Amino acid sequence: MSARRFDIFVGKEYLKFNAAHFIAYPGFRERLHGHNYHVTVRIEGELGPDGYVLDFGMVKRATKRVCDSLDEFTILPAQSDCLDIREQGGSVEVVWRDDGSRFVLPRGDVVLLPIVHSSAEELSRWVAGRIREELIGDGARRWSRMEVSVSETHGQAATYTDAEPVG
Ligand code: ZN
Repeated sequence: MSARRFDIFVGKEYLKFNAAHFIAYPGFRERLHGHNYHVTVRIEGELGPDGYVLDFGMVKRATKRVCDSLDEFTILPAQSDCLDIREQGGSVEVVWRDDGSRFVLPRGDVVLLPIVHSSAEELSRWVAGRIREELIGDGARRWSRMEVSVSETHGQAATYTDAEPVG
């Protein structure tokens, strides 16, 4: 690692979302339940002429928008290998193929994410991708590496590392 590299860390109390989910894979399904998820972000890069890697404010705003997009929703994994998820009128129907268990939820209460399981691991990868898009959309300058952690509960988190440089 170059001696000129720094990283910045954002882990504010308000960078959180409350959401319902359940893990499902063939042969296993959790009951629907919720977590108070917290998100932390670490970004590594070189120091700019203003003395910043990236403006903390920009990172906090981008992360907050992504958290808000999940807050008080039920998270469903659109690419599940064991759930049939169908939109019908204003509802979403979810059927677990193993035993035909069926949920029907209002479409507006659900976020369908392009993931296979709504685990903290897969959520951290999706959240990292969204924060990346938000930062690029806000004109953030270059950085070399981003780590995003999603915790379901205190002291229990999954981290995704996006090592593709930006800029
Ligand atoms: Zn859970």
